[in-house]
Amino acid sequence: MHESTKTVHLGRHPDRFAGTVNTPVFRASTILSADVAEWEQKKKDRAQDKPGTYYGLMGTPTKHLLEEALAELEGGYKCQIYPSGLAACTIPILGYVRTGDHILVADSVYGPTRRFCDVQLARMGVTTTYYDPLIGAGIEALMTPATRLVFVESPGSLTFEVQDIPAIAAAAHRRGATVMMDNTWGTPLYFKPFRHGVDVSIQATTKYVVGHSDVIMGSVTCTREAWPGLKSVTTDYGQTASPDDCYLAARGLRTMAARLPIHWASGVRLAEWIAAQPEVERVLHPALPGDPGHALWKRDFEGACGLFGVVLKPMPRAARDALLDALTLYGIGASWGGFESLAMPFDPAEIRTATRWPHAGPCFRVHAGLEHIDDLIADMAAGFAALRAAA
Ligand SMILES: *Cc1c(COP(=O)(O)O)cnc(C)c1O
Repeated sequence: MHESTKTVHLGRHPDRFAGTVNTPVFRASTILSADVAEWEQKKKDRAQDKPGTYYGLMGTPTKHLLEEALAELEGGYKCQIYPSGLAACTIPILGYVRTGDHILVADSVYGPTRRFCDVQLARMGVTTTYYDPLIGAGIEALMTPATRLVFVESPGSLTFEVQDIPAIAAAAHRRGATVMMDNTWGTPLYFKPFRHGVDVSIQATTKYVVGHSDVIMGSVTCTREAWPGLKSVTTDYGQTASPDDCYLAARGLRTMAARLPIHWASGVRLAEWIAAQPEVERVLHPALPGDPGHALWKRDFEGACGLFGVVLKPMPRAARDALLDALTLYGIGASWGGFESLAMPFDPAEIRTATRWPHAGPCFRVHAGLEHIDDLIADMAAGFAALRAAA
């Protein structure tokens, strides 16, 4: 079955719900049993990991069917929904480490994930070493007998380095470590984590799955072998999401395969147009043939989303800010993956420790939305005119 057919049909069972096309919003805390025998049976079933509706914390069919769809789409054994993408990046780590353990985290990781390692894991006596995202098989040299987990994110947040996931995973598995990946950029369609050696895959479903900038949510999908660590930690830390939000995420999923090719094509067109401007030092987009990550992207990815970075030549930050302020179709704001375009300033030098950011010029990140590409380019051209006037 093709991916677009899967996104339309997975996790949908109208026969169970009076024929409604979408799984309804089932709100619940208490789920009643008809008698004591059913109550006892449900306890047994839950202990044996059988699918069922036990208690609102673990979710109702609105959440379970979204999890079923995402697990199958990413190609994993089971999926768990989390209340945010960040919770999906952080809480699962706790299922695989204990005091005295060591983890390896890509230097290009999402900033708040890094803070969790530096503050919360450090308090628990779990140490973190940040590594060059381009390290590949060389990661083996950083592994100690205490290394339990290797965290990858590809392409990297803000800086878009593509990691050699199969090489890193092979090294990690030789040393008995679990590979956890933030796969938000790749989406469940464009990077298939379990084919490349990943054990636990994270989506900030806030982005392209929800797709409409109105829900915060995350998902974590894993292999059968990694499931015991994930299953326990999700409920032990009380992680869940509201059925209303799960409904919106499932609705977003139905059109994701139709939306993504537009984000991909517009992102590439826009990145190429921006790269041709004389004030631009580099565009950070692995789908462009000149990008250092292009060969790995071509080898491992099925497509590209609409998010990329721009490095300007050294100039006053005020010139970059004039560009961003002049844009009318691109909003200034955090997050991405919605139907609308965004452009946001960032400074990669602020957040790295294992590698040095080689560029001095100011940067900004672009999300290509679903507006017409000609309008997006015309607006960006007006932005560059404002930059020139201010430089
Ligand atoms: C947005 C994002 C997250 C966090 O998701 P939230 O739902 O905003 O908490 C995690 N990782 C990446 C790569 C992201 O872009």
